[in-house]
Amino acid sequence: MRGVKRSSHPLGRWRRVVVKIGTSSLTDDAGRLHRPTLWAIARGLQVLGAARGAQVVVVSSGAGAVGRERLGLTLPLTLPERQAAAAVGQALLILEWERALAPEPVAQLLLSAGDVHHRERYVNAKSALEATLRFGVVPVVNENDSVATAELKLGDNDTLSAWTAYLADADALVILTDVHGLFDADPRTNPAARPLSVVEDVETVEHLAGVKAGSNRGTGGMATKLRAARIATRAGIETFVIGGGGAGLEALARGEVTGTRFVAKRRTGARKAWIAEQPPRGRLEVDAGAVAALARGRSLLPSGVRAVNGTFAFGDAVDVVCDGVVVARGLTNYTSDALERIRGRRTSAIADLLGVKDYDEVVHRDNLVSLGEPSATPDAADAGDSMPTR
Ligand code: GLU
Repeated sequence: MRGVKRSSHPLGRWRRVVVKIGTSSLTDDAGRLHRPTLWAIARGLQVLGAARGAQVVVVSSGAGAVGRERLGLTLPLTLPERQAAAAVGQALLILEWERALAPEPVAQLLLSAGDVHHRERYVNAKSALEATLRFGVVPVVNENDSVATAELKLGDNDTLSAWTAYLADADALVILTDVHGLFDADPRTNPAARPLSVVEDVETVEHLAGVKAGSNRGTGGMATKLRAARIATRAGIETFVIGGGGAGLEALARGEVTGTRFVAKRRTGARKAWIAEQPPRGRLEVDAGAVAALARGRSLLPSGVRAVNGTFAFGDAVDVVCDGVVVARGLTNYTSDALERIRGRRTSAIADLLGVKDYDEVVHRDNLVSLGEPSATPDAADAGDSMPTR
């Protein structure tokens, strides 16, 4: 492909790598599954895993497209029809991966938003993934499209792949697509468009999210890829958005990136990174004294909370806000109702006000993550802890 720069660099040894394969990388122009392409990707996965000494976790899209092909359906479809197509397509897709990745067995793991946002389900999904890897199986993950409707869905497999990288404690996330990485302009209309080989900080390129490139067969565009890169790199997971199908994976195995490498931030520990990515259910307005205490690594106490916004339950994520600026996110020990009653009061008054005192802290420091610069939240003790806790 014109203008593609192949940058060589030592990628080091990976223990685990998650590789996401988009619909556009598995189907032809008519949207039909292209088996030789899938088989070449399967070979690329095996070469990459062997070269890096890594266990491979696959996130494969394509269920919807394959199911539509099998049933002879064309878009637009109703939601139940799309669900049916995904159910049919998923079965065919997993069979094809099973054949193509032989002799390794494959496992089908279908996840939905709840599996990554609810602590118990997250831990459960993580255990299942760990067990499959222990058995030497290649997990093939997809969103559970047949039962997950819009409000229960992550919606795109780029985001799913970043969460899968958390679940797997992966060192690297590779998003295989039909464009060779992130371009600084639309390469189809702008001949001067250049691919970016290395991005140090995803936030500096977020304005390129709207750049259109590649086919329209997948769900995500560059925006969801950048979002996935942000989620993953924040947890210290190196992210690659590359093209070239199986050959692109084989090149990566040699250390050549046929696309863009997003450099990982220092590892914050999966648990804190997980908290930072939870959708907040409410906001706690706090005073400057509380902000100073948080900056010193302390927990948030009721005395520092001035106002409570939103309705939330024990363990929900809440934003900590001072003068309109979100300074931290954490998992609350108190419901919004209870907090209304204890805000601004001393810890010693909680038992009298609520009749019971389960916690001194509104948000314990272990469940709190600063939303400032990652370097401002050193947390060595957290590194390696991969379980979110409430
Ligand atoms: N889960 C969808 C499928 O397998 C794909 C979602 C996406 O393309 O991001 O059809």
